[in-house]
Amino acid sequence: MKLQYWGTAAAEGIPGIFCNCKTCQEARKKGGKYIRGRSQVLLEEEILVDFNADTYRNSLQYHCDLSKISEIVITHVHEDHYYPIELMNLLPGRCKEPSFKTLTLHGSEDVEKKAREVFSVYEEKERIFHCGTVAFDVMKPYETRRVGSVDVTPLPATHNTPNPYVYIFSKDGKTMLLLNDSGYLKPEVMAWLKEKKIRFDLVSYDCTYGKRDVVREAPRHMGLPNAEIMRQRFIDNGNYKPTTLSVLTHFTHNASEIGYDEFLPVAAEHGFEVAYDGMTIEF
Ligand SMILES: [Zn+2]
Ligand SMILES: [Zn+2]
Ligand SMILES: [Zn+2]
Repeated sequence: MKLQYWGTAAAEGIPGIFCNCKTCQEARKKGGKYIRGRSQVLLEEEILVDFNADTYRNSLQYHCDLSKISEIVITHVHEDHYYPIELMNLLPGRCKEPSFKTLTLHGSEDVEKKAREVFSVYEEKERIFHCGTVAFDVMKPYETRRVGSVDVTPLPATHNTPNPYVYIFSKDGKTMLLLNDSGYLKPEVMAWLKEKKIRFDLVSYDCTYGKRDVVREAPRHMGLPNAEIMRQRFIDNGNYKPTTLSVLTHFTHNASEIGYDEFLPVAAEHGFEVAYDGMTIEF
């Protein structure tokens, strides 16, 4: 499988759009891997995971023709993961010749609900839902769906939107878990992973708070100490192989010392890789 990280920050991005804190100053000065956009992943060059306000610019930067991407999987409806107003550009006249018939947004029931909320103040509100170029696929937890060439299974996340998911993606005997945004997975999710004997080849962890243990103050995200505990739970649960890759992503500028060059050796010492915007992994 092939994935490319398009964005590896939390909601504000790094630097935060209006922020001048030490982390954001450093990112503006150093550029490169110190710059992190809002969370997004391209999978197998055919599925976009999350759809934020950076999507358009990301597609140009990473040379991806969005007129050919017809499958989007949404983790949850926080604004750094889902920006439905962009769907307006699919309306006839705004989009003259899409290569696909329908753009399908897969996720929980929250995805269509949020789009309807956002569109409620626009004149085009009915047209967008009836123009035929947008479809919402409501996925239920633990039910696998074939999306493009990939099997996709949503699991309930530990996060603060009504129905947040994290997803398992499987293809050709390879299995990956994108574990953001989420705190520790709930016991029932762990029990399901054990019962189904799921074994990951790659796990991409929420590391919003960098080096900090945040599970008491913010149980909906993780830091490196929490990712380590989560990984040990997967190992004890039989979900890891000796070769499983562990990657950290979704960083906030509110965490200290998360500049790429400084955080890389800290993560490596604990057996984790650090995602950066544009990073491609094939496994
Ligand atoms: Zn987020
Ligand atoms: Zn900042
Ligand atoms: Zn979130």
